[in-house]
Amino acid sequence: MVRVGIPRALSYYQYYPGWKAFFEALGADTVVSPPTNKAIFTAGNSRAVAETCLPVKLFFGHVISLADKCDYMFIPALRSLGQKAYYCSKFIGLPDMTKALVPECPPVLDPEIDLNKGRSSLHHAIYSLGCHFSSDKSKIKKAVEQAEKAHLAYRKEMSDRGITPIQALDEMHRDEDKSYLEPDISPALSVAVIGHQYVIYEDYINHRLISRLQTMGVRVLTPEMAEQESLDIAMTRLGGAPHWSFEADIIGAGEHYLETKVDGIISVAVFGCGPDSMMVDMVRHRASEFRTPFLHLSLDEHTSEGGLLTRLEAFLDMVRRRRRVCA
Ligand code: SF4
Repeated sequence: MVRVGIPRALSYYQYYPGWKAFFEALGADTVVSPPTNKAIFTAGNSRAVAETCLPVKLFFGHVISLADKCDYMFIPALRSLGQKAYYCSKFIGLPDMTKALVPECPPVLDPEIDLNKGRSSLHHAIYSLGCHFSSDKSKIKKAVEQAEKAHLAYRKEMSDRGITPIQALDEMHRDEDKSYLEPDISPALSVAVIGHQYVIYEDYINHRLISRLQTMGVRVLTPEMAEQESLDIAMTRLGGAPHWSFEADIIGAGEHYLETKVDGIISVAVFGCGPDSMMVDMVRHRASEFRTPFLHLSLDEHTSEGGLLTRLEAFLDMVRRRRRVCA
């Protein structure tokens, strides 16, 4: 069976179930790289130029870890998934950067996903992708339908049950008792954690932020736990039509959770990310208008676990104090 490699980084957290359904419907197998570890981190770091953002460096590390385990590497060139809302240039250039920096990478499947060019261009890109596996047009069409269904089910699963992508993806591979996935509705504090999925769920660089907060008795809310429509509405109301494809996950989620009266907001971004710095400022400003405690964590290769923990504890103390005062 043909094996398609999917790096566990960047858009993996958002689209993996759809991609898996698509390739499997066409008779291919998907192979995912392991969670980030030191070897992946070091390998990615060694190939990228210093200015590259940390998530992209990690992406190269994941490609390297998969290079000898698959026949193709799937790296879509994501440009736009909405009218005039763009991915950052790193996403657009990802297939070309990978080919240049990881020469041992197997042939790259790199459909261009650009909704600004219209749906027919998208269909053409996906059909051409499917042609690598089948010449049967109806089979490819069915694979696209399966992919859409899997993606919508994944998104609904997270918003209906208030679980993270990691929990939902784990569930795809497990049959045992799923009660561990139920959200805990009893903890005292609710804190929204906003940011790119590939940062807030990347435990290696954020030092297990989400599970750490949960063990500190916090009910963690992330963008995926809200309905996409609610994020889009909140985003548009606050900032107008989005310019970046991921604005709903940051500005929209920040606004949505502020309106639902969470006890605090933590935004997480990587050092040096241009798009994030503007979006985070907007959420910070709104949090101060709502008088909601706000913490921004800017992560890089050198972020220490101890330093992060100290900041979290201090922030949670402040959130608890404020809640007592306002009670
Ligand atoms: S949005 Fe920021 S963190 Fe994400 S790929 Fe672009 S530069 Fe990197």
